Amino acid sequence: MKKDYISFFKKLRSPILLALLGFIIYISLSFIHMESQLLKNIDLQLLTAAQNIKYYVGEDYVTKDINKNTYSTDEIIDKGDFLDNIAKKTEIDYLYILVKKENDIHYVLMSDLPEELIKHPTAYYWLSLKETEDDSYLLASETFDKNEPVFLNSTDKWDSYRSVYVPQISSDGTQYIAGADITISHLRKSISSWVFFGALRSLLFLALSLPLICAFMRLKKENAATKKKIINLNEMDHLTKTFNRNIGMEILNNIIKKENTKDLSLAICLVDIQNLTHINNKLGITAGDNLIKIVGNILSSNFRKTDAVVRFEGDKFMVILKGCEADCRAVLIKNLQNKLSLFNTSNKNHYYLKLHILFCVYKGETAQEFIKNSFLLLDLHKKKQNTSDALIQEEIIDGLNRNEFRTFFQPKIFTQEKQIEFEALVRWFHPEKGMIPPDKFISISEKSFVIHNLTKKVLKDAVDFSQRTNTKVSVNISPVVFQNPNFSKEIRGILNSRKIAKLIVLEITEGIALDNFKVAVDKMKDLNKIGVEFSIDDFGIGYSSLSYLEKLPISELKIDKLFVRNIHTDKINPLIIDFVVKVGKISGFKVIAEGVETKDHIKTLTSLGCNNFQGYYFDKPQSADIIYEKYSSSFYHNMIKSLKE
Ligand code: C2E
Ligand code: CA
Ligand code: CA
Repeated sequence: MKKDYISFFKKLRSPILLALLGFIIYISLSFIHMESQLLKNIDLQLLTAAQNIKYYVGEDYVTKDINKNTYSTDEIIDKGDFLDNIAKKTEIDYLYILVKKENDIHYVLMSDLPEELIKHPTAYYWLSLKETEDDSYLLASETFDKNEPVFLNSTDKWDSYRSVYVPQISSDGTQYIAGADITISHLRKSISSWVFFGALRSLLFLALSLPLICAFMRLKKENAATKKKIINLNEMDHLTKTFNRNIGMEILNNIIKKENTKDLSLAICLVDIQNLTHINNKLGITAGDNLIKIVGNILSSNFRKTDAVVRFEGDKFMVILKGCEADCRAVLIKNLQNKLSLFNTSNKNHYYLKLHILFCVYKGETAQEFIKNSFLLLDLHKKKQNTSDALIQEEIIDGLNRNEFRTFFQPKIFTQEKQIEFEALVRWFHPEKGMIPPDKFISISEKSFVIHNLTKKVLKDAVDFSQRTNTKVSVNISPVVFQNPNFSKEIRGILNSRKIAKLIVLEITEGIALDNFKVAVDKMKDLNKIGVEFSIDDFGIGYSSLSYLEKLPISELKIDKLFVRNIHTDKINPLIIDFVVKVGKISGFKVIAEGVETKDHIKTLTSLGCNNFQGYYFDKPQSADIIYEKYSSSFYHNMIKSLKE
C-alpha cells in the first residue's frame, strides 16, 4: 500500500500530471467561491445601476406629480426606453422607480414593461406593486423608512428576481425607491457563462503554462545534468582523467561501510612513480606531467572496468579492486609489468618508467586504517629500494676512492671547420661486475652528494684531456649539480684559469633552463665570463618551446639521438632538425647531431644543413689513451676528408 503511494507521488513528478492536478484544484476552489463572488458582483452591479437612476432620468421626474400628467405618455415611454437602454448596457434586466402613494406602492417608471402592460397606456405608471403580485411588497414599504439599500430575492407573477431597493429622497422631500432587478434565469445564465469562461480561462492558462512547465522541468533536468557534469569534473583528476583522492576515499568508504565484513574481497594496488623527480629535473615539468598521464593511461587500460583508478597524490596512484583474489591479482600485476616493459622498450619513448607496485588486501579495518596501513607498507617497500640505492651509493664512493671510475671520450666532428672536440663519458669498472655503463649508476648517484664527487672527477679528467689535445671537451652536468647554489663557485674552483676554462663545454639538459630560467641564465653567464661554454644536450625530448633557445647563453645544441635514429622513418623528425638548424644559424650556436651511426644518417643530416656529428660512425666512447692516439694520428680528420670525397 505504502509502495502504491510512493509510486503515485513519483508519477506526480511528471509535469503534465502536475499541471492537471493544479487545474482540478483551481476549478474546485473556483466553484466554492463562485456563488458568493458572483452574487457580490451582481449586487454591486445592481446597486450601481439603481443609484444612478436619478442621473439617467433626471430628479424632476420623481418630484413632479406624474398623476397630474406632467409628462405625456410618449415622454414616459421615452424615459422608459432610455432606462431600458441603460439597463441593457449595464446587463441589468429591470430598472425602475417606486413611489408610495395612498398607502400603496407604485411603479412610476420602469424599463422594458411587460407586453400586456404596454397594451394599456394608463398602466405605464401607477402600476401597483400589489397588482404585480410581487412578494417583496412588504419589504419595499419598509425600505421607504430606511436610508440604506436592501438586497432581496423576490418573485412576481412574471418571474423571480434578485433585486436591490435604494431608498432616495428627492429635493422636494418625496421619498422613492430606485430599484434594479436581475431575473434568476439571467443570473443562472451568468453563472453558467462564468463557469464556462472560467473553465476556458483555466484551460487556456493550462495550455499556456504547460510548455512553460515542460521548459522549466527540462531546464531543471539540464541543470541537474550540468551539475552532475561539474561534480564529475570535480571528481576527476584533470591531468590523468582518473578519480581524484576525495572520490577515491569515498568509493573505498562506501564499499567498506556497505559490506563491513572481514570476508569482503577488497584490495588496493598502490603505484608509485619512482623516477618522477628525476624526469622533472632532467626533462622539465611538462615531461613529468606527460609521464603521470602515461601512468594513468597504463593503469586505466590494465585494470578491470569495475576497478577504480585513483590519482592519490603527485606521483602516487591507487586502484581499488573488489572481488579480485590472489590469482586475479597475479594476472593483473603480470599484465601491468608487461605493459611497462613494452613501454620502456618502445623506440619512441624518451625515458624509462620505473614504478613501485604493491597490492594490499583488506582485513576488516576502517577505510582510513586500511589506507594508512597500505601506505606504510609502500613506504617500507620503498625504503628497501632506497636501502639498495644507499648501498650502491656507498659502493660508488668506495669505487671513487679505489679509482674504479674512468672517463671515456667520444669525438664530436665539425666537418665544415674540420675541427674535432670530445665528450667525456664516465664508466665504472667494478671489480666483480665488470664495466657498468653510466645509465646504471648516474640516476642513483643523483639522489645524494655522490653525483658531485663523480662530476668533479670527470671534470678533472676532461680538463686533463683538453689540455693534452688542446681541444674542447664537454662534460655532462646533472640537474642536481647545476641547481646547487654553489655550482658556479665549484666549477670555477676546478677551472681555475681562463686557459683551462675556455676548453670546457658543459652539457646541460633543456629542463634545467626551463624550470628556473632567470637563475639558470645567471649561472651560465657567470661561467661564460671565464670562458666556459654551454651546450644543450638531448634536445627535442623535453617538449620545450624553441623560442627560449635564443635567450640562452649557449654555444651549442645537441639533437638527441632518437631524432637521428628515426630520421628515415619519422616524417616529423627531419622537419624538426631542419628548423633547429635554422634557429641555430640565426641565434649563432652550433647544432650537432648525436647517435650518428651510418652514412645515410650523415647524408640526410647534411641535406638538412646539419654538418656536425657525434656517434658510432666516427667512434665509440673509448679510453683517453686510445682516443688520444687516434686523434694525434689524424684518424678523425681523415674521416672528415673521406666524407667530402
Ligand atoms: P648522453 O650525454 O646523451 O651521452 C651520449 C650517449 O650516447 C653515451 O652513452 C654514448 O655512448 C651514446 N652514444 C654515442 N654515440 C652513439 C651512437 O651512435 N649510437 C648510440 N646508440 N649511442 C651512442 P653513455 O656513455 O652510456 O652515457 C649515457 C648517459 O649517461 C649520457 O647520455 C649522460 O646523460 C650520462 N652520463 C655519462 N657520463 C656522465 C657524467 O660524467 N656525468 C653525468 N651527469 N652524466 C653522464
Ligand atoms: Ca651528453
Ligand atoms: Ca645526449
